[in-house]
Amino acid sequence: MKTSSKLTALGLTLLSFFSHNAIAEKKLTVYCSVQHATCEKIVQRFSENYNINAQFVRNSTGATLAKLIAEKNNPQADIWYGGTIEHHFQAGDLGLLAPYRSPRQAEIMPQFKTLIDKHGELTSIVYLLVLGFGVNTEKLKQLGITEPPKCWSDLLDPRLQGYVQMPDPQISGTTYTAIATLMELWGEQKAFEYLKKLNANVSEYVKSALVTTNLSRGESAVAVGFIHSYATEKEKGAPVESILPCEGDGYSLGGMSIIKNARNLDNAKLFADWALSKEAQELVWRETKVYQIPTNIHAEASPQSVSPKHLKLISYDFDRFGKSLEGKRLTDKWLKEVKLAK
Ligand code: PLP
Repeated sequence: MKTSSKLTALGLTLLSFFSHNAIAEKKLTVYCSVQHATCEKIVQRFSENYNINAQFVRNSTGATLAKLIAEKNNPQADIWYGGTIEHHFQAGDLGLLAPYRSPRQAEIMPQFKTLIDKHGELTSIVYLLVLGFGVNTEKLKQLGITEPPKCWSDLLDPRLQGYVQMPDPQISGTTYTAIATLMELWGEQKAFEYLKKLNANVSEYVKSALVTTNLSRGESAVAVGFIHSYATEKEKGAPVESILPCEGDGYSLGGMSIIKNARNLDNAKLFADWALSKEAQELVWRETKVYQIPTNIHAEASPQSVSPKHLKLISYDFDRFGKSLEGKRLTDKWLKEVKLAK
């Protein structure tokens, strides 16, 4: 080969190397644990705003934590967006997260300041979730129930046998929060006695999205879940109402954490900052009709969301339920004493 051709070949190789790296620098993979439509919109808008090729993989919270554990030595994603924060804390406890304290944490509701001071180095709070029931009013009527359930204890009504659904806590964060909420209200023993009794009325434990769809279709009469999901179904025309249990308002928070050894760390930090912004938090309800409560004090909440002012949030020990050993112990206990005892 002539010297000039060699130089051209070398030039092309270098060009290819640099452009490959430039493309690599413009990437981001998000593990997403919110509704599919929200994952799509959030990731798409981020890509447009920052000219970054962002992709997402959607899974429930427990399922995403299991993926992070399985991929510990070879992480496949850069950031985990959404899902119950207890599982994010558990991921932190297991050493699966990278430190990053977003400056936007300063804009998060002050009532969570203590939690942010303690855990914000690994996990940010992107939204607030309120736990309750969804009811299908037509199905309740068919079952001869004229008064919808008001309290957790009302779900034990024998007329509801086979018509209650809740997600499986092995994959879903929702039911983990429900178990923890009942433990906060009544203590562990009574909470598990209740869950065993409720078993008699539960037709099946499925993914949270399916629990909501089944309620709308009238395949169940009562669902346990985060109540904003029922506001969306009602808006679509389903005969569904949401109920805040009389015993007190259980809740969780939406977590967001950068994954340890993320390949696209700088882009993950950009995403974290943006996802906490007023723009991103309002986009969730304005453009995807999903009504979790924004945590950025400058973000307007949807009129469909329950106002935090009207909530009496129970005292909830995120430190305890965010420990990985406690998470595993409670999920295993539920499996053995509740689901498999069916
Ligand atoms: N985040 C949001 C916004 C949700 O609506 C839900 C469930 O309704 C969750 C997280 C928890 O989802 P999962 O129980 O599938 O983990």
